[in-house]
Amino acid sequence: MCGLIGIARTPEAAYEAFLGLMNLQHRGQDGAGILTVDSIKGQFSLQKGSGLVENIFSERTFRNLKGLSAIGHTRYATIGRRDPNLLQPFINDHFGIGIGHNGNIVNCYELKEELLKNDKNCHFATESDSEVILNLITYYLKTKPKDFSHLFSAIEKTMKDLIGSYSVVGLLKDGSLFGFRDPNGIRPMVLGKRKNNAGEIAFAISSESAALNYLGYNDLEEIQPAEAIYISAKGEMHRKILTKQSNYPCMFEWVYFARVESQMGNTEVYKARFQLGAILAEYLKNKNITADVVLPVPETSRIAAIAIAESMNIPFRELLIKNRYVNRTFILDDQQSRKEAIKRKLYPVASEIAGKRCLVVDDSIVRGNTAIQIVKLIKQAGAKEVILVSTCPPIISPCYYGIDFPSTNELIAHGHNEEEIARIMGADKVIYQTVEGLKKALEQNSLCTGCLTQEYPTDIVHAITFENKRTEDRKNNGDCMPQVNSIKNKN
Ligand code: SF4
Repeated sequence: MCGLIGIARTPEAAYEAFLGLMNLQHRGQDGAGILTVDSIKGQFSLQKGSGLVENIFSERTFRNLKGLSAIGHTRYATIGRRDPNLLQPFINDHFGIGIGHNGNIVNCYELKEELLKNDKNCHFATESDSEVILNLITYYLKTKPKDFSHLFSAIEKTMKDLIGSYSVVGLLKDGSLFGFRDPNGIRPMVLGKRKNNAGEIAFAISSESAALNYLGYNDLEEIQPAEAIYISAKGEMHRKILTKQSNYPCMFEWVYFARVESQMGNTEVYKARFQLGAILAEYLKNKNITADVVLPVPETSRIAAIAIAESMNIPFRELLIKNRYVNRTFILDDQQSRKEAIKRKLYPVASEIAGKRCLVVDDSIVRGNTAIQIVKLIKQAGAKEVILVSTCPPIISPCYYGIDFPSTNELIAHGHNEEEIARIMGADKVIYQTVEGLKKALEQNSLCTGCLTQEYPTDIVHAITFENKRTEDRKNNGDCMPQVNSIKNKN
């Protein structure tokens, strides 16, 4: 998972891209980059660095990042976590094209081999699947991009080769901004417009509407699955659906990943999270579950917890206090870091917990590390009973589309029912949202639920190569050993 921003026709494009990335920081904390273009000189300027966005860029950086158009990328790694060479955007200076990519290409290793076989000019500087996308585009372009139709034709051919998830923003040396989204629309991407200081229309593309709202763009609309969009330096916009489209957006965007102020697939993230809670509350009432207090695991589950408390008529209390200076645990890069971070980040309010039946709401339970620690903390604080509920159904299978829960043996719900999970966690009960409840709450006609149902929206026959590479990478990073599970595909 990564964050993307693209800015066109704005004098302070680099600074806007920076502000956009600040608002997309939650989508990746490994590193970030901004690429700008001076279309008169035909020159790219690029700045990338590891760590948080605010620590990478400075006033001096913005003086060097010249031009009216920019793209930015914040990285969340699934492979090569500590490799600064994998930071984006990537550029091909000869073709005058740069891109940033959010998602994961399942067949990238096979495509790389094909490219190296078929194109003697092709070379790869990294192991990144995003570089495969860039090389495929230039392979099909054959020459520098002449106009939007030339570029669209290369992207269309590229799309036919790629299997996986991809939202891409790109920049050409003539100052044009472009973007495209995979045919299943797995990763989000939104377009916004506003008037610049000269009264002309400026455009922006982002992974999330919250970043565009912050920058003052309005008239927001989603870029469609399989759609490519091109905005020339003069402000002419072209867009086209390039291949057959479906719609399988990732359910985890609403459940956990996206900012709560964002909207995706016409459902606000806030509304989706509230509905996840309300639907779960009905389910709990049917099971005759009751408690003295509802408490959220901060931050993501707060909205669902409010809905549960309201619906069940149980007091809502913030009784797990977060140390805000410790990063999100899920996004940290190995098991040990995650465990350490959990210990340092949450503190229970023992005086309010002691003697109470606590209904603890978490957004999701992936590896279970956080939940085990939380149950322990609440029990140690004197709770009479701990009922842990998850707004997301059990995650039983890997994600091949960019979320880092890759291996079955890391997933606590794989091969365990709720009773067994409760025992492992030391909780009195563990109760999950149902897949039907999730679908109802998110109000989408269709969703990617591959990690919940093992029904993936793309062919995943190549996923084994990808999985093996990721296993190797995790071993090198000191993370635990995954196993590959049997998987079936929807098509
Ligand atoms: S497999 Fe799960 S996490 Fe991955 S894209 Fe699909 S719904 Fe999202």
